[in-house]
Amino acid sequence: MKAKGKRHYNIPVFIPQKACPHQCIYCNQRYISGQNNAPSLQEVKQTIELYLSTAEKGSLIQVAFFGGTFTGLDIDSQIGYLQAVKPYIEAGKIQSVRLSTRPDYINTQILDLLKQYNVTDIELGAQSLDDRVLQVSERGHTREDIIKASNMIKSYGFNLGLQMMIGLPEDTLDKSIATARTIVSLGASSTRIYPTLVIGRTPLERLYRQGIYEPLTIDDAVIWSKEIYKIFTAADITVLRVGLHPSESLISGGGYIAGPFHVSFFELVLTALWKERFEDFLRSRDLAIRDIKTITVNPKDVNYAVGYNSSNLRWLKQANPNIKIIQNSSVAPDNFIIWQ
Ligand code: SF4
Repeated sequence: MKAKGKRHYNIPVFIPQKACPHQCIYCNQRYISGQNNAPSLQEVKQTIELYLSTAEKGSLIQVAFFGGTFTGLDIDSQIGYLQAVKPYIEAGKIQSVRLSTRPDYINTQILDLLKQYNVTDIELGAQSLDDRVLQVSERGHTREDIIKASNMIKSYGFNLGLQMMIGLPEDTLDKSIATARTIVSLGASSTRIYPTLVIGRTPLERLYRQGIYEPLTIDDAVIWSKEIYKIFTAADITVLRVGLHPSESLISGGGYIAGPFHVSFFELVLTALWKERFEDFLRSRDLAIRDIKTITVNPKDVNYAVGYNSSNLRWLKQANPNIKIIQNSSVAPDNFIIWQ
């Protein structure tokens, strides 16, 4: 859904776990979406109307069914939701639909149905491409299921999204990197990276309380995410999200128990990435921080170059109190110029 000059909106419709017939070890959708019941068709229409009333004229608008497992719903419910969107598509008010689901709920009948209703983007919760990690996380599907579903989705001409998680039981940095590389090779156009959190009333909470499962520290989660983010951006894959979006009930309702949660998690990852860029540059030129006067970056990058809570700038200033990071739009995004 890309066209120059037009704004893009997503109208999010959450289909919570009630719609998902499965129970992964870490998941309690009620907390994550902050919503217990699947929305009625009337509520879906109200949500659409509300968003349309504030959307800029001429925008490109997509309805996004997120949360549980859309194609795990009974077929009548799937058709009901898609039918609810259809009049808006026919009227040209909405252009397309995206949805998220599980790899083992994809088959040709489902894909035929989704094609009929202007679904253009299908995101699969892959989570890991390592069979052992999938097994102990009780995902209920294998690596092969992900590969098969991805190939099918691509062969129908849908845009493929593959979400992954880091720090699941028995996950390692190497396994996560291998997962990211496989996501690239499967032809995904978008991805999301979610560090595993321990959420209340899940089997993972029990393992955590028994001392059997230990979540990643925030520092490790940032390093893992940085390595994976580099793989995706080098392959031109859109990273739609890094870190879980906290619904109010996840934070205030006691849903969050442990794990690498931070409200600015993505900013922490980009801060680490920019620090690494500076370190690599200095190393490659055999320079010290005290040899530099100024670093110029694109305005889009300045917050990350300076770092979360100015951490990168403070690190640079420890070695060189006069150093400056300045912004200039003539510098290409993701690049920087060092002035000695
Ligand atoms: S498939 Fe998705 S919604 Fe269903 S239990 Fe697993 S993580 Fe939760």
